Amino acid sequence: MTERVAIVGAGLAGSLLGCYLARRGLSVDLYERRPDPRVGQPERGRSINLAISERGLDALRRIGLVDSVMADALPMKGRMIHPVAGPLDFQQYSASGDRAINSISRGTLNNALLDAAAAAPGVSVHFEHRLAELDSCTGSMVFETPGGKVKVSADVVLGADGAGSAVREQLLAEGAVGESVDFLDYGYKELSIPAVNADFALDPGALHIWPRGTSMMIALPNPDRSFTCTLFWPAGDFDALSNAASIEAHFRTHYPDLLPLAPTLVDDYLHNPVGVLGTVHTQPWQAHGRTALIGDAAHAIVPFYGQGANCAFEDVVELDRCLADTGGSWARALPLYEHRRRENTEAIAAMALDNFVEMRDKVTSPVFRLGKRIEHTLERLLPGRYVSRYELVSFSTTPYAEVQQRVHRQHQFLAAAVLLGAGVLGAAARIARSGARR
Ligand code: FAD
Repeated sequence: MTERVAIVGAGLAGSLLGCYLARRGLSVDLYERRPDPRVGQPERGRSINLAISERGLDALRRIGLVDSVMADALPMKGRMIHPVAGPLDFQQYSASGDRAINSISRGTLNNALLDAAAAAPGVSVHFEHRLAELDSCTGSMVFETPGGKVKVSADVVLGADGAGSAVREQLLAEGAVGESVDFLDYGYKELSIPAVNADFALDPGALHIWPRGTSMMIALPNPDRSFTCTLFWPAGDFDALSNAASIEAHFRTHYPDLLPLAPTLVDDYLHNPVGVLGTVHTQPWQAHGRTALIGDAAHAIVPFYGQGANCAFEDVVELDRCLADTGGSWARALPLYEHRRRENTEAIAAMALDNFVEMRDKVTSPVFRLGKRIEHTLERLLPGRYVSRYELVSFSTTPYAEVQQRVHRQHQFLAAAVLLGAGVLGAAARIARSGARR
């Protein structure tokens, strides 16, 4: 008999997972609490565009979805830094200058993945089904639907229901997993820059950053030639601006070039919600070899490396590989998937937190910019032997934990080279001085 797999959450990871499992000939029920997002309006202030890079592309490529799913994406080859005053500063992402991360709206990406999942043989999608109860041992579940409670069961239950996962909550209540959540004391709010005369108001080939030390704003381009901005600010500070005058005064002082480009700024600011950010640590990710967590449900991270969705897609690829390596035995595949992924998700969680400091603060420093130039020069001089952390994270599928170790070794090598260089220069200066005395 074919095993029935239930995936809770038809977001990014859940929809892609449905496509992968369908290729294994499994019978999949995909349960989503929202109505079908392909036929409704997106929630206000939650349109968020994502940067999809090599890891995400690789996961889509493996099942032939990359062209259809990424059709609307816009490549961004570097960061455009907006200082409070003075010229813009473009910093390319790769040494060659031609590698790009790709801006795509979460809604567009989710809808394309849902289309692919719904069309896959053996996949049934059930919208307006909110998981309310789960017995992780038997696979029995209760969903709240507009028509009342529905009881179903499955051989395998996969929780792809995001950072606030109901599956994780049920596993916690059963004592099957432990959890810790490190909330960042920063929140985020979405603002928008519309097209001007049917054209982009800013360079669409860059991810725009307004680094302001304790706060930061970014903007990513959309196919309709608008930009979606995300303002990151200490969570309590958003309330300090409560009327048009104070909002405009704040932006005139700290983001002066944004004001003329954002005619709906005050309305966006007053009405768009403040989102919370944090890192979720769960241990273990699976129970009884039949219930498991994937993507943000297992390990949500802060968004500053643009890797949460990319990492969730890599989880899907690894789970599929584990099923292949265990001959389709869920009882063996689920612990193996956790074993292979855990150190990598912990590594990207730490790198994402580090990158926040880099984006909101360091990118404006002359020392940082010099460091980036030296790094790109080394990459060109030692191709494949010296590769920056950004390149390894965004333009390769090198496991995140290996990236961390390799970058650590590279930095040790650089520090030793600098010390050696200083030593050689010091010795040369001493010889020159003693020669001059003679
Ligand atoms: P989600 O996409 O959150 O999907 C979970 C799904 O489960 C949803 O559809 C939800 O409705 C459903 N669900 C929830 N509860 C239930 C329930 N009880 N029953 C049934 N269904 C349920 N990542 C990147 O790779 N690049 C970026 O540039 C990037 N930028 C980001 C910017 C911001 C501001 C934020 C907040 C995140 C960003 N991320 C980025 C992270 C990315 O959005 C997440 O990592 C990704 O969405 C995780 O996918 P997921 O499928 O695990 O969870």
